[in-house]
Amino acid sequence: MSFLNSIYAGLKPYTPGEQINDPRIIKLNTNESPFEPSEKAKAYAAEEIARSRLYPDPENLALTAAIADYYGLENDRVLATNGSDEVLYFIFAGFFTGEKPLLFPNISYGFYRVYGDFCKVKYREVPLKADFSIDPADYTKGGANVIIANPNAPTGLCLDLDDIEKIVKADQKSLVVIDEAYVDFGGESCVKLVDKYDNLIVVQTFSKSRQLAGARVGFAISQEKNIGDLKKIKYSINPYNVSRVSAALARGAMEDRAYFDKTRGKIIATRESFTAFLRERDFFVLDSSANFVFTRHGKIKGKVLYKCLKERGILVRHFDTDLLTDYVRITIGKKEDMLFLAEVLDDILQEVD
Ligand code: PMP
Repeated sequence: MSFLNSIYAGLKPYTPGEQINDPRIIKLNTNESPFEPSEKAKAYAAEEIARSRLYPDPENLALTAAIADYYGLENDRVLATNGSDEVLYFIFAGFFTGEKPLLFPNISYGFYRVYGDFCKVKYREVPLKADFSIDPADYTKGGANVIIANPNAPTGLCLDLDDIEKIVKADQKSLVVIDEAYVDFGGESCVKLVDKYDNLIVVQTFSKSRQLAGARVGFAISQEKNIGDLKKIKYSINPYNVSRVSAALARGAMEDRAYFDKTRGKIIATRESFTAFLRERDFFVLDSSANFVFTRHGKIKGKVLYKCLKERGILVRHFDTDLLTDYVRITIGKKEDMLFLAEVLDDILQEVD
């Protein structure tokens, strides 16, 4: 006997990457930061632990002020959520469920399809170009809402600000959501367009460039009206959506700009040297603006490479779908981890030769 409403019987839930808690594993599969949270984040969180008997501020004012300050915005343009997944859910449930169709790339963050199905959104997946890039012209015809990850995942490819603006500007009666989960590793944020366009929502996360995947904090930036509408959804589902400790961690991470710049600088430098290594070994690697690379090798299938690496204690991500099966996505870790991975890849390539 199933008590689940039959409308959900065919639901295909999101499959999270493997979360193996073995410190011996080099975990390069879910685009986490290899660095610890900043000292400032940890100090703020330590102070909050004792206050945990009290509910958090449902408006998260201290945190949204830190985010607003970073971007030079008013506080009422920011909504903090339980990971960016939560604000994406609010957007799908609250904004994308009407008559208007929703467009997103056929290769992108897997949750768009899952939320689309869950919320019964009329969505259409737009094929990427053969080189895996997004053609902005596919999103400027009007009459449809749009969600795009920029940089895209798992490709790591980025649209520039002009292209994003063209998409936002094309039909200002339709909503454009830009998911900037990876923007701090090389993209240009379109937060600066929020002033100009009331049909733009920018989504970001503390999970990647700010070392807090485990704290679950994300946020949206948009004009006050959209933030107010998102709050209606939030207050109808989960008013205390960000815990005290998580909000404190995120506030510290946002304020500690020196640590943020130092750590993302290291990731970018390591990505560039690791990409050069892969290309020397005849891997095909897309030009990544993110904290991961998407790559394939003519001599070894994606799934086999994933398995060989796992046997040697290195976890990467393989997507078992027709379009992506040749590839693996490798998160950029610490320099020493990537040097070890490079040695292991050389061994594997020798074996298959
Ligand atoms: N957007 C993209 C493009 C992602 O890859 C992810 C992480 N898997 C998210 C959003 C969600 O991140 P989080 O919920 O940890 O903020």
